[in-house]
Amino acid sequence: STSVHLESVTKEFKGHEAVSGVTLSASAGEVLAIIGPSGAGKSTLLRCINFLEIPTSGRIVIGDQSYDVTLNGPPRGNELVNLRRRVGMVFQSFNLFPHMTMLRNVALPQERVLKRKRADAEERSRDLLELMGLGDKSDQYPNRCSGGQQQRAAIARALALDPEVMLFDEPTSALDPELGAEVLTAMKRLADEGRTMVMVTHELHFADDIADFVAVMVSGRVVESGPPHDVLHSP
Ligand code: ADP
Ligand code: ADP
Repeated sequence: STSVHLESVTKEFKGHEAVSGVTLSASAGEVLAIIGPSGAGKSTLLRCINFLEIPTSGRIVIGDQSYDVTLNGPPRGNELVNLRRRVGMVFQSFNLFPHMTMLRNVALPQERVLKRKRADAEERSRDLLELMGLGDKSDQYPNRCSGGQQQRAAIARALALDPEVMLFDEPTSALDPELGAEVLTAMKRLADEGRTMVMVTHELHFADDIADFVAVMVSGRVVESGPPHDVLHSP
């Protein structure tokens, strides 16, 4: 698997720094959890990793590929497409297409982005829906499924592109605790498989359980970081 390294990443909005010189890493196969109060810049920092937000300055390194915004500006064109393929993302809102079945939702990006044949994409989609505990939901439309089921389909959709790194932006915050738990279980399985993951979460117990490294952000900066035991259990 692949490492992620952020170096002196800064993001300004109209002169205000939402993220200020953040340096953080996740080694290959590790889970990095970013926690902190609302408005701290967690989501903005996460979105900088796949250039959904363009950092004002700094460097993002995914495996052996370095994107130095300060030196070269942001990646564009094919470089950006390749980066987005390597770095999958799951959002707070699941963003499934309502007029497509769960199966088609998972298959479509493979057909569009990876140019997989429809039959191959659907076969892979069935496997991933099965893995996410949704084997019997393939032919359902999203609005007939629970929020937890929809979020797990969104995870399957991201996994279908075989990303090297997965980003999660508060994937359970729109869900009731019970349904959120199903999503956390699915995420834990991915972590156990040795997938490199960076997640923004309010679920401190979950972060404690699966993260290798926890970073606390306040006002755009990392104010504390380390193994979960040190960060979450300090007196
Ligand atoms: P968190 O994820 O920790 O809640 P955010 O990254 O969403 O924090 O936001 C950090 C700060 O950046 C907030 O002050 C927010 O209002 C601001 N911000 C986020 N996105 C934008 C944007 N597109 N334009 C202007 N300000 C933004
Ligand atoms: P969260 O705190 O969960 O990240 P927000 O409500 O802060 O969610 O942000 C939701 C969306 O609005 C994001 O796309 C963010 O970039 C954008 N946003 C947040 N704050 C501002 C702002 N002050 N001006 C413009 N866009 C913003």
